[in-house]
Amino acid sequence: MRTTWRIGRLFGIEVNIDSSWLIIFGLVTWSLARSYFPAQYPTWDNWLHWTIGVATSILFFASVLAHELTHSLVAIRQGETVRGITLFIFGGVAEITEEHKQPSKEFLMALAGPLSSLVISAVFTLLWFLSRNLVEPISALALYLAMINGSLAIFNLIPGFPLDGGRVLRAVIWSLTDNLRLATRTASRIGQAVAYLFIFSGIWQIFNGAWLNGLWIAFIGWFLNNAAITGYRQVVMRDMLREVKVEDLKAPTFEVVRPNLTLQQLVDDYVLSRREHAYPVVEDDQLQGIICLHDVKAVPREQWGETQVSQVMTPWERLVTVSAGDDGNTVLSRFGTHNVHQLPIVEGRRLTGIVRRSDVISHLQLRSELGS
Ligand SMILES: [Zn+2]
Repeated sequence: MRTTWRIGRLFGIEVNIDSSWLIIFGLVTWSLARSYFPAQYPTWDNWLHWTIGVATSILFFASVLAHELTHSLVAIRQGETVRGITLFIFGGVAEITEEHKQPSKEFLMALAGPLSSLVISAVFTLLWFLSRNLVEPISALALYLAMINGSLAIFNLIPGFPLDGGRVLRAVIWSLTDNLRLATRTASRIGQAVAYLFIFSGIWQIFNGAWLNGLWIAFIGWFLNNAAITGYRQVVMRDMLREVKVEDLKAPTFEVVRPNLTLQQLVDDYVLSRREHAYPVVEDDQLQGIICLHDVKAVPREQWGETQVSQVMTPWERLVTVSAGDDGNTVLSRFGTHNVHQLPIVEGRRLTGIVRRSDVISHLQLRSELGS
């Protein structure tokens, strides 16, 4: 089971750690403290190898975080929303919405990450230069971080999608052809070629005895290949949804409830018989909020009889809505950005329908079965 821990906020962006990150943190720290530093600096004692190993490892992951943070801050400046940054086994990932995408924006956003790694590398090179004849452990740490951040920048600039370099290439092709789908297809094909190169060189290394390294490289290749395929599929899906209107996605039927209904009545008369998880709450033709199973479960069962829907629903002020004129992409983005499962369709404050995640999925499935 994978778990994610929220460790704090930086510049208003949520920073998370996925449990898989512990594996890579352990591996990096261990190989620095037990292999790299002992080989390079055999005169240090064991304690110093570990101290500098742990410090270097922490600073390395802080550098990865800074790389993702740079992507995110540039994205925010361009009007995107960033849901958070998560460190995981293959590094870091920033969850950035794609509502205001344009080639020039994507170009800057993608380039910002590798540039930040280059800057970090330069800072550690300077630190290494200043400390090289004075404090050996500090200069050793600085040298390693200068090299690893430099490699990080170069690796990320490989022009295969979904790597940053692939995004840069995609932005260039996109602005030249005005065709995002073609641009993504090209960049992800190169991405897949790079991924296979990683897989084969990994396998080659495994057969040559460097099995741990080989396994790792093959693993990264596998991950890149998946990401390239998924990235292209997402663009195809967005392309499809651009032509779709909210009207085509909305649920064929939906039930509304009154605000003064008790939770017990809601469960007995609606949830169990209609098997829906969420209900818009309407009074005097005005949308008051949404009540979902989740809100009900937060109240102890003994209190269901006397608690009214209006006391526990998500009120109108905090609702995420769409209007009939919006397209499928807006719907998809709202689902993603706000992590909700249904969106009321409103005209002013009047409810005209509802669109659920499952409606979007079944629409896409039908379209792909019909081959359009
Ligand atoms: Zn990046």
